[in-house]
Order: sequence, then structure tokens, then C-alpha cells
Amino acid sequence: MSEPRDPEKIAVVRPDRSSEPRPSRLQAVKGMNDILPNECAHWDQLELILKDWLRCYGYRGIRTPVLEPTPLFRRGIGEVTDIVEKEMFSFTDRLNGDELTLRPEFTAGIARSVIEHNLTYAAPQRVFSMGPVFRHERPQRGRYRQFHQLDVEALGFSGPDVDAELIVMLSRLWADLGLQNIRLELNCLGSAQERKAHRQSLIDYFSENEALLDEDARRRLHTNPLRILDTKNPAMQALVDAAPRLESHLGEESKAHFEGVQRLLKDCGVVFTVNPRLVRGLDYYNLTVFEWITDQLGSQGTICGGGRYDGLVEVLGGKPTPAVGFAIGLERLLELWSETRLDDLPAEVDCYMVYQSENARRRSFSLAEQLRDAGLNVLLHGGGGSMKSQMKRADQSGASVAVILGDDELQAGTATVKVLRGESSQMQFQQDGLSDALYDLLFSDDEGTE
Ligand code: ATP
Ligand code: MG
Repeated sequence: MSEPRDPEKIAVVRPDRSSEPRPSRLQAVKGMNDILPNECAHWDQLELILKDWLRCYGYRGIRTPVLEPTPLFRRGIGEVTDIVEKEMFSFTDRLNGDELTLRPEFTAGIARSVIEHNLTYAAPQRVFSMGPVFRHERPQRGRYRQFHQLDVEALGFSGPDVDAELIVMLSRLWADLGLQNIRLELNCLGSAQERKAHRQSLIDYFSENEALLDEDARRRLHTNPLRILDTKNPAMQALVDAAPRLESHLGEESKAHFEGVQRLLKDCGVVFTVNPRLVRGLDYYNLTVFEWITDQLGSQGTICGGGRYDGLVEVLGGKPTPAVGFAIGLERLLELWSETRLDDLPAEVDCYMVYQSENARRRSFSLAEQLRDAGLNVLLHGGGGSMKSQMKRADQSGASVAVILGDDELQAGTATVKVLRGESSQMQFQQDGLSDALYDLLFSDDEGTE
């Protein structure tokens, strides 16, 4: 006979799931970073400084989609570039078969937008954009698969003065951020014609020395011989050093443009070196190209790269429009900045509100709304707990003051305010008019004149 069932026992019997696998934890895509709240505060601060600086030179925002048609980058950046050959996140839209790509840079998308909306019709444009870009590279310090750029473009300007303005502007930014030891390298890539002549002389030269080329170089010989000059292979250094220089193919106009840029930089005391090997990894550049480089970030030391791209708008189907721009890698800039910056971020919240009882909790909810009506930033404690644990949270929050509501305060229509930063002190205020009292406490310069 089976034993009688004990209802209590039955109630606590649970299925044994210990042998079942737990759902696996999902992780971010490799090379793509979460920017967590503490770090976000630094990003916000940097973005404020950048926007101020951009306004100072009359640049206005533009925001284009993260996703663009793949042919935009193939045509705009060039088929035989690192980006298009191997770094793009591209896919086919399942629903309509469109070829799409997550932007690997901003310039092509901005040029597309400028053409589509005829933006330079009435006047040239100075614009900037900030946001994520995507490149399928090997992740390492300073090199990610999703990273952020500040991109600045001046469209419709042909003179060397705008090239120089962009460079001088960057030099001001480094000074504003207190950054030192960022060096500037410049080069002139000439006109399309001049590059063509140089290209031919490179093909001739490297063909004569084909036995000395590595596999990469051989592949590039007839597609993009200029990129062979960028080789990191030590065995090819001597060959590359003796290769024909673009400089000897530059005509008067290109030389005058480059000299014009250099003259303006010297006028403003901007120090630079001319690096004839600087070609940049994108096809669309002509005339001025430049990079800002630091030795403080290990091997990924290029903070900013840019140059002139007079042919791009036409290549993308627009009217010929001279243009020049640059992009800053924000992760690298932020890392460099964090080494020099004093860590004194302003408080993100003014008050942290804590309560002792259920009634006080209810009152603090509406009181917090009244303080926000008055323009204060208020963090209301969530989830109850002892006064001690609530005050601990208040301290951790970085708020300037804690506003405390207990039963005594409820009775008296008052609130206790405890100063959390600097010298600690505690005082009582009426709930009516609390926001005025807090304003005086937090923001008035002349203490004690009440
Ligand atoms: P690099 O030579 O380092 O690959 P790049 O010439 O490919 O740079 P640009 O296309 O000129 O870079 O992009 C402008 C800036 O964006 C770079 O100077 C750098 O600061 C930043 N950057 C480029 N690629 C990455 C990446 N994968 N991760 C983080 N920042 C990057
Ligand atoms: Mg690259």
C-alpha cells in the first residue's frame, strides 16, 4: 500500500531542473564596445567641447543614415582600397535584394546627401557629423569594428585657405583639450592628371623590378600601384624609397596650392613636416592630404586624417564641387585626452531624494516633480531600504545634496537637506519654496548674503 499523501509535501515538490542547460549568455559583437555610464559622462563632455569648437568656425550639423547603398562606397572610396576590399560590413536586404553597407566612413554619405538635396546650389557648406562607423578589422587597442568619428567637411571651396583653416582649427582643438605631442604630416597628391602620370611611372618602375615585389604589391601593381608605397614589408623598403616621386610630376597649379596651404599654416605658427609617402587609404583624395599622429597610443597613433577630394561629388553623379574635410577617431582622441584631463566631471544630478516611510515615499514622488518643474535634476531613490543604505546610494550618485523626508518632516511640512560634496552640513527648509532654497544653496556665488 502506498503511504497517504501529505498535502504540505506535495506543495513544495518542484521539478528538478538542475540538469537542464541555462540559456547561454549573449555577448556584444566582436570588436564592438559598450560605452557604460561612467565612460559616457566623458563622451558627453568631449562632445560638448567639440560642438563649441565647431560653432566657433561656423560648422553646422548634418546627420546621414548609418546604412547606405553599397555602390556608394565602391564608387566613392574606390574598389581597390583596404576599406572596400576587406573592411566593409555589407549584406543583401532579404526583402528586396538591395546591396547595403554599414558606413565605413562619413564622407561618401555626406557627399551623396549634398548632391541629393542640392545643398551647395546657393552657397558652399561647412558641415560636421558625429557617430559610429563600421570596419571589419582585427580588433586591438585603438582599432575596433564599430568606432566613432567626428567628421568635418567643407564643400564648394577650392582655395588653399579652407584646407589651412581645417588644419589650424584642429591645432586649436588640441590646445583646447590640453593635448601635446601630436605632430602634423602633410603631403600634396596633385591633380588627377598628375597622379595618372605618376601612376604610370610607378607601374614602369615596379614592373622593371617585379622580382622584388611581394604578393600584395604584385596584386596592386596594375590596380593601385600608389598603395605599394604604403607597404609595411621591410624587405621592400629600399625599393619603395627609390621609387619615382609624385613631387616631380606636380605642375605649377598644384605646387602653388600646396605652398599656399603651408604659408597660411606658418602664419598661424602651426608646425608640420611634409611627408612625401603620405598617400591615405582612400581613392578620392587630391592635392592636400594630412594626418595628425601621436606616439602616446602605441601603434594606432593616427588621431585624425583628412584631405581634399575635388573629384568625389562628380564621381557620385553631382556637379563638380571642390571639397575638403577630415575625420577624427573619437576612441583614440578620448584615450589620449583621458591621460591629460583632470577628472573633475560636473555633478550629473543636483539632489538625491530619500524617504523614511510609505507616506514619505508618496510625498517625495510629487515633491521631486515640483523640484524638476523648477529646473533641478532630481534622482528619486528607488526600492526603499534603511535610511543608512539610502544615504549610501545618495553618496554614490554624485549628487550635490540629499533631500530627506521622514515622518517628522512630513508633519512639519519641511525637508532636511544634507550637503554631500565638499564640507558636509545639514539644514531644514520648508517644502514650499524648497526649490528656491536649493537654488540658493547650490548655485549662488555670494554665500551668507541672504
Ligand atoms: P588607420 O591607418 O589607423 O587604419 P585610416 O587611415 O584607416 O586609419 P581614416 O579612414 O582616415 O583612418 O579614419 C580617420 C580616423 O579614424 C583615423 O585617423 C583613426 O583615428 C580612426 N580610425 C580608423 N580606423 C579605426 C578603427 N578601426 N578603430 C578605431 N579608430 C579608427
Ligand atoms: Mg584603416
